[in-house]
Amino acid sequence: MDRGNDSGAQGFADLKARTMACRECTIGARATQSVVGEGDPHAPLMLVGEQPGDQEDRLGHPFIGPAGHLLSTALHQAGIPRDRCFVSNAVKHFKFELRGKRRLHKSPGVREIDACRHWLEDEIARVRPQALVALGASAARSLLGRSIGVTALRGQWLAHEDGLPVLITLHPSAPLRGPPGERDAALAAFVRDLAQARRVFG
Ligand code: SF4
Repeated sequence: MDRGNDSGAQGFADLKARTMACRECTIGARATQSVVGEGDPHAPLMLVGEQPGDQEDRLGHPFIGPAGHLLSTALHQAGIPRDRCFVSNAVKHFKFELRGKRRLHKSPGVREIDACRHWLEDEIARVRPQALVALGASAARSLLGRSIGVTALRGQWLAHEDGLPVLITLHPSAPLRGPPGERDAALAAFVRDLAQARRVFG
């Protein structure tokens, strides 16, 4: 795999083409397209979610659906400039189950996360961030190479295999899914977690 200094737009176009053709797990054949990371190609902070959602799969960009909007809000409240971040996902294709005509999100399994891991590692090698944020259990599994309990460990810094610090928190869809009366508190807790990553911006 090319892990050279290939972090420009052409580098990510190449990554898009290569992930589009990937069939290393069964998800790829059913999705519309692969969705690779986007943002500042030299970002000091890289945030990693789970997988593209329905809108991301159709339009080809990460974090453009409801969870993406909540992530933007939370980053703003945490004092982190969204345009200086790079955002991506542990898994590059959308996994879903059909319910009538609706495509319902289905979480990727460990085998799928592990199969897709080298693509995420490729992005990390290109961007070379100072720190990573694992947004949820799938991202933590990919970034740490092992499964952890994110609810217990949220707000803590763990280490990627190359020593990069990894901040553990929940996926931004979590505050959206909670009971309406608890969503403000869930968002505030998410912002508190993210605010710890502000230090990489000096
Ligand atoms: Fe390949 Fe990842 Fe897509 Fe699976 S989800 S086919 S490993 S790019």
